[in-house]
Amino acid sequence: MASTMTEERALSPGEVPETQALTERPQEWAQNLNIHLVCADCKEYPPNLVEEFASGDTVCGSCGLVLQSHVVDTRSEWRTFSNDDQGNDDPSRIGEAANPLLNGSQLSTTIAYGQGDARSRDLNRAQNRANADKTTKALLAAYKQIGTLCDSYHLSHSVADTARQLYKMTDDTKAFKGKSQDAIIASTIFISCRQNNVPRTFKEITSLTKVPKKEIGRTFKALEKFFQKHTQSTVAKNETYTTTTSTKAQDLCGRYCSGLDLPQQISVIAGEYADEMIKAGLLAGRSPLSIAAVSIYMMSHLMGMPKTPKEISLVAGVSDGTIRTAYRHIFEDRKALIKPVWLEKGGNMDLLPQA
Ligand SMILES: [Zn+2]
Repeated sequence: MASTMTEERALSPGEVPETQALTERPQEWAQNLNIHLVCADCKEYPPNLVEEFASGDTVCGSCGLVLQSHVVDTRSEWRTFSNDDQGNDDPSRIGEAANPLLNGSQLSTTIAYGQGDARSRDLNRAQNRANADKTTKALLAAYKQIGTLCDSYHLSHSVADTARQLYKMTDDTKAFKGKSQDAIIASTIFISCRQNNVPRTFKEITSLTKVPKKEIGRTFKALEKFFQKHTQSTVAKNETYTTTTSTKAQDLCGRYCSGLDLPQQISVIAGEYADEMIKAGLLAGRSPLSIAAVSIYMMSHLMGMPKTPKEISLVAGVSDGTIRTAYRHIFEDRKALIKPVWLEKGGNMDLLPQA
């Protein structure tokens, strides 16, 4: 009889008998969702249950027997305060988070127009006049200007936000009071671009903000010095201001190449070539703009997608004459600097224009 109950077979090494495996594994606790709460007296199914939140009981709706106490109230805990949009669910218990870019806690009272009678209107006006915060208004105007400028240049939100933060720093200390507002905004955008690794040239910021290049340069220098000093003394240690490094030719290649509809491959090669030229000491003293431009000129020819100096000059903002002159300087050293890998990728030295 025992042989019919237990099936006997040889176990392979390491294998646990089935019954043993079941008992040994501790069962994870889980709520048994199969339990129905039914009134013991009425035994109705489905049960007629009433949840009484005031007392925290679950009560049988038919006979009144308390079936469960200490019920957890799972309803939303907010209360609706706004009377003006009754009928709509208004789950807001709180206002917006305080904007760190503005001063103060931004908690304010507004007097409503009410029925629109003269007294409430006068009260509203009087309160508005008392509350007109001039510094906040000026800040908001500056932030808006930064936002508009960054938007018009397709700069990301993080660039705009960094610029706003920098602007707030200058505004807080009043160190630049009386200086041209436009120049400060232009410089903060310039620094912000560098800090966010999307460097723009002074020339580009000038064409964006209409602030003369010289003025941006001067304000930029003063601001950078100020930020360094300011963050050292006041801001927490982990929030130190890192001085921006000047724009590298390599950083510009990517943007210029995309402006010229050149593929990513050429942009990378042009960047590397620009780097090689700088390392070799070629074109020393020339601006990163012209180094990037001439590198793109040469590499676009090498890779068989030639661009004329004129086309490049429109994107890079340097004259085509500058590109031609620079090309004459670097043409001699091409053999030493062009990497064999590029030739394997389809580069051809014979395609290079003669200088
Ligand atoms: Zn009942």
